[in-house]
Amino acid sequence: PSIEPQATPIDFSQYLSRESKERKRSQLKELRPYFVIPGMISFGVGIPHPSTWPVNGMTLSVPFAGKSVFVPGFGSQSPSDMYPLAEYQDPAKGDALRPDLGEELQYSSTYGTPHLLSWIKEHIQRVHNPQYDDWVNLCTAGNTDGVDGVLRACFDRGDYMLVEEFAYPGTLSPATTMGIRCLGVPMDTDGVDPKALDDMMMNWDEAEKGGPRPKMIVIVPTCSNPAGVTTPVQRKREIYSACRKWNLLICEDDPYCFLQIRPNGADSPIVPSFLSMDTDGRVIRIDSFSKIVAPGSRLGFITGHKTLVEKIMNTRESATQCPSGFSIAAITAILRAWGSHEGFERNYIPYISDIYAKRCLSAIRFLKEHVPAETIEIPAPAGGMFLWVRFKIESHPSFPAEDPETISKQIFHSMIEQKVLMCPSEYFKAPSTTQWTKEEEAKRIFVRLSFSLPPQEEMEEGIKRMGRALAKEWRLSA
Ligand code: PMP
Ligand code: PLP
Repeated sequence: PSIEPQATPIDFSQYLSRESKERKRSQLKELRPYFVIPGMISFGVGIPHPSTWPVNGMTLSVPFAGKSVFVPGFGSQSPSDMYPLAEYQDPAKGDALRPDLGEELQYSSTYGTPHLLSWIKEHIQRVHNPQYDDWVNLCTAGNTDGVDGVLRACFDRGDYMLVEEFAYPGTLSPATTMGIRCLGVPMDTDGVDPKALDDMMMNWDEAEKGGPRPKMIVIVPTCSNPAGVTTPVQRKREIYSACRKWNLLICEDDPYCFLQIRPNGADSPIVPSFLSMDTDGRVIRIDSFSKIVAPGSRLGFITGHKTLVEKIMNTRESATQCPSGFSIAAITAILRAWGSHEGFERNYIPYISDIYAKRCLSAIRFLKEHVPAETIEIPAPAGGMFLWVRFKIESHPSFPAEDPETISKQIFHSMIEQKVLMCPSEYFKAPSTTQWTKEEEAKRIFVRLSFSLPPQEEMEEGIKRMGRALAKEWRLSA
């Protein structure tokens, strides 16, 4: 007998986990309605321009037998025509990075496939040269996946975790969903302030906070999202010392590492990483191919102490078993095309960082030319994708009568009226224990201007519109 449709629809809320019910999603999605306004120039989203992809096509060899094209309306050929023509055969061995589908399309160790892991190990040794022996790598499906693994391996509900004062929502939101209590550490134009970090730990009152001190800080050390900061090496040493003092792990989420400005190309060394100064095994470094190949690579790698990395590996083992073998095959083909590590470091990386350096410098030039100096503070260029532009709220005509966040919203809407979109700093503000005065709050209002997508002319027109909106807000005569 057939089953009659049920009279009342299922109430699915009864099946949902606490995690689903309490899931926080990035606030940036609130900007979506503005993106689609016709004529809007958007500096809202930080994604690479497709012109930066280092591939312009992919060929897959699918050796069907005979007339195997399916013609709609004419049916398919006989089933035997769909059988592979020939069995898969391994390519000639010997070239360490040659895609070897026998290996790459097979189940593999969750750490990754041997060819790719050997490239990663040599890369880490050459670029970061860790100062202790027991480090290993784990392949991931990109930095989102890597950070997820770290959080699942290290945190319980209710634990505290430190983040930057203005933090990447793609980490803040999932951490909050997992019940992790995030706290922002005050930062300046060099990144996290080690003195403020030390003070927070020193004054930690377990009873008042309802829990012990945090065990980790998550930092985006290069061209950070959103603050566009590259933390200099001296500052990194001070942060590292403070973390050792308070026994904090450092999660170094570094997808923009190779987008930093290199004034003399390959001859300017990159800023040393936290991993490069780590003698204790307290740094978990997370790298990604998203910004140097393409976000669709969904491939990255973690470097850290073998004991911790094993636990992170275990969280992936029963989830994604990542990464995808097709992705590994494609990326290894690209690595092979780049040639040696030296070719990658001296030719490809400076080429890609130059694209972002030029965009960053153009955006700064347009800000200087088209936006009244009374209204904004021009940030220093770091490369990457973001400029963190501070509004001089302290000189806005509505301050101090109105509070700074209200003025910020008003400015946002004036910019939308002029059809230009940027992300307000409130979307990135981590929970904080610091008490800010109204005057201090006035100096914490920024917009994140992402310069990675718009072409040059559009960038200039967008920044002109920003200038018009701000002149109107500050009631400046033209
Ligand atoms: N979506 C995903 C999944 C990303 O990882 C990124 C890059 N961080 C973006 C979108 C664009 O970044 P944002 O949301 O910070 O503009
Ligand atoms: N972490 C930060 C700080 C980011 O800005 C982004 C996005 O660009 C990611 C992680 C996500 O990177 P992936 O594409 O490797 O998951």
